[in-house]
Amino acid sequence: MITKAKIVLIEDEKNICSFIERILAPQGYQVTSSATGREGLDLINSLHPDLILLDLGLPDMDGLRIIEQVRTWSAAPIIVVSARTLEKSKVAALDLGADDYITKPFGTAELMARIRTALRHRQNQSAYPSTRYEVEDLVIDFERRLVKMKGQDIHLTQIEYKLVSLLAQNAGRVMTYESIISKIWGPYADNDNQILRVNMAHIRRKLEENPAEPKYIFTEIGVGYRMREE
Ligand code: CA
Repeated sequence: MITKAKIVLIEDEKNICSFIERILAPQGYQVTSSATGREGLDLINSLHPDLILLDLGLPDMDGLRIIEQVRTWSAAPIIVVSARTLEKSKVAALDLGADDYITKPFGTAELMARIRTALRHRQNQSAYPSTRYEVEDLVIDFERRLVKMKGQDIHLTQIEYKLVSLLAQNAGRVMTYESIISKIWGPYADNDNQILRVNMAHIRRKLEENPAEPKYIFTEIGVGYRMREE
């Protein structure tokens, strides 16, 4: 676990800003805040933070442009903190390279969990990819390409296995429909979600006790899927 991670917070609402600072400081995070996009970009340039918390609606620029700019030179995880509930802007943020988003109002536990997940994923990326996913009754052995539920082998088609292992390798993070489709079917694949939905329905029937109330793979409506991390 990383402590004393440096975080740059770009947020123009004072209440939210101080709320986030109050949550993070006791956890040992060093938070530096900015109320404008311009100043936020300067902070990112000079501080090289371990993580960026970004509001999309800023007085001087659209937060999406910040993601775009930062991604040209930095891989620091970006979590969008936004009042926008429009799925369109969440998808745009993720497709531009944001790692996750959290919608206002949010609770302390949720914010902390998202930050830990983003920092951990960034650490793991440079190390070896994990060889195993194990949450409750579900085990995926990536080396042997085996999926087990309560100790029983689950037979998945090749595409189903690719989908499950992609989501499991990114557990805790939301993956957009578009990014999943391009990773599984290639960048020139038709961006029609239908085939993805059909495959996910099959996977859920095999993995979930009650596919209508999934325990392992959650739908982020209008955005994509997120696999449970712990
Ligand atoms: Ca705002």
